[in-house]
Amino acid sequence: MRCPFCGNIDTQVKDSRPAEDHVSIRRRRLCPACGGRFTTYERVQLRDLVVIKTNGRREDFDRTKLERSIRIALQKRPVEPERIDQMISGIVRRLESLGDTDVASKVIGEIVMESLARIDTVAYVRFASVYKNFQEADDFDRFVAELRPPLKVDE
Ligand SMILES: [Zn+2]
Repeated sequence: MRCPFCGNIDTQVKDSRPAEDHVSIRRRRLCPACGGRFTTYERVQLRDLVVIKTNGRREDFDRTKLERSIRIALQKRPVEPERIDQMISGIVRRLESLGDTDVASKVIGEIVMESLARIDTVAYVRFASVYKNFQEADDFDRFVAELRPPLKVDE
């Protein structure tokens, strides 16, 4: 990181800590050339997130895809559109705050299911059954086991 005072490119990090919002890292830097001190903030850019698929393939994170799968799961369910938007923003914020640009697709799936389970059981089951096609069977069994009764799949 170039020193803003003298232009020296070889500055040192003296201290790193999460900023208050926990989605960024605050770094105190020192320039050994001029003694100047300055602070930088580092945050994950969602557009830079890379999804690591179960088969090991890497793919750029696509918010639209995430939204589509969630909206399909919630189709015709009595959930306010604002709540759905809130949930999607919440999921995106959680992904941003994981602190790593590489995110396993499994982690995303789990966060989505956790969020869906909290607002609508039917949508949760729909999503989980689709998700099943992409995961190992024992994973799906675990998700089902976590389902709280009464379980009502049919509308
Ligand atoms: Zn300097």
